[in-house]
Amino acid sequence: TAFSSLTDRLTNAFKHLRSKGKLSETDIDSTIREIRRALLDADVALPVVRSFTSQVRERCLSTEVSDSLNPAQQVVSIVNDELTAILGQGVDRPLNFAKNPPTVIMLAGLQGAGKTTLAGKLGYWLKQAGHTPLLVAADLQRPNAVTQLKVVGERAGIPVFAPQAGVTSSDETAEDATVVTPGATHGDPVAVARQSLEFARQKLYDMVIIDTAGRLGVDEELMAQARDIRDAVQPQEILFVIDAMIGQDAVQTAQAFNQGVNFTGVVLTKLDGDARGGAALSVASVTNKPILFDSTGEGLTDFEVFHPDRMAGRILDQGDILTLIEQAQKQFDEQQARESAEKLSEGTFGLDDFIEQLEQVRKLGPMKNLLAMIPGMAQYRNQIDNLDEKTIDRSEAIIRAMTPAERRDTSIIDGSRRARIAKGSGVSVSEVNGLIQRFEMAAKMMKRVANGATSIPGVRPIP
Ligand code: GDP
Repeated sequence: TAFSSLTDRLTNAFKHLRSKGKLSETDIDSTIREIRRALLDADVALPVVRSFTSQVRERCLSTEVSDSLNPAQQVVSIVNDELTAILGQGVDRPLNFAKNPPTVIMLAGLQGAGKTTLAGKLGYWLKQAGHTPLLVAADLQRPNAVTQLKVVGERAGIPVFAPQAGVTSSDETAEDATVVTPGATHGDPVAVARQSLEFARQKLYDMVIIDTAGRLGVDEELMAQARDIRDAVQPQEILFVIDAMIGQDAVQTAQAFNQGVNFTGVVLTKLDGDARGGAALSVASVTNKPILFDSTGEGLTDFEVFHPDRMAGRILDQGDILTLIEQAQKQFDEQQARESAEKLSEGTFGLDDFIEQLEQVRKLGPMKNLLAMIPGMAQYRNQIDNLDEKTIDRSEAIIRAMTPAERRDTSIIDGSRRARIAKGSGVSVSEVNGLIQRFEMAAKMMKRVANGATSIPGVRPIP
């Protein structure tokens, strides 16, 4: 991710402390020097690094550390606090909603920052939460922008309000269910934005997400247009969208947009990238505006609410168990889980049930992302990066090539059946053997655990 090398450097800086009991001022200073260098190399802005390190140093030299039972751990915890503070004072702020719908969210940022993609993600997320969003194409600069937003809207199943080339404001055109193009004025983004509010009020859309034009660099004309749109629609939120990959320019760009449109919140995009993402970490601190969301890919659901404390934990390789649990809770089907537990204790858990469980795990997203949320995983990054996501696909293919009777009772699967299954699923016989073996072992163990006949400490039968 954008913070991988920062994570490595920081965990390294702490490693030297781990072996020590009491810390001298020299120990602390050398650790802080390493942290400082790690932050600067990650492109975190200099003023931010300065205030961060002086804050950390002051606290490290206080009794907070010298009196603690585990000084090294205490230093890590101080760095964690201060990193959380940089990322937004540790405050999670929910979206501002309008008293009288629609709530208007305007997106601003440079071209390529990910605004259009974000419009779809945000809309999809709001829709999942029970809202009725409308996307608005107020980026009329790039010829392709309107089409792109329509594609995004279609994918997310959200209507798009957009002017159509050659259509004047008197024409009413409703295309299909997902894309509406009623008489929006061609060529005038301010008018389009204003009309979209009318339309949303009439058709009872409660959230309006306005995609605005970006440029390759900050320029006054762009800023003036964004201001005009803002003044015309009075948004509850103006989200500044910034690509975490743009490096050192991030801070200047953020400052320019802050002065230009006085945004209310920040969205970090492309956190999945490989470049140094440290500059993005400075944005909240430099502009004094909270980061509300972040985005980690091109897919509709590669998007999450930003929590400063959780992000700090991930950067320091303390994992992010909370997010992991939330994702699991969102996706897991409780009824199904209860049925599986019953089958386990009865010993009737078959490969059909196994496939259902695989499906559930798959819904949580790529295995790599899940593993990254577990504390201490940074040292296994190479293995994780090389992890073959296709393993689940192959297991599923093998099971699907079995007959229902075979899935219920693997003991009937003899040599010739194994050969048939291997052929049917396009894998080798030894892969089929491996899967059956692993399943039988797991089933045996789960049955024992479920029946309480286990001596594994801390493992109790599933109620
Ligand atoms: P806009 O010009 O600000 O509207 O930016 P777009 O939404 O068109 O995005 C520019 C490019 O970045 C597109 O190719 C997107 O697919 C891609 N993109 C957007 N968000 C992300 C992200 O979080 N991760 C990655 N890897 N790509 C992204």
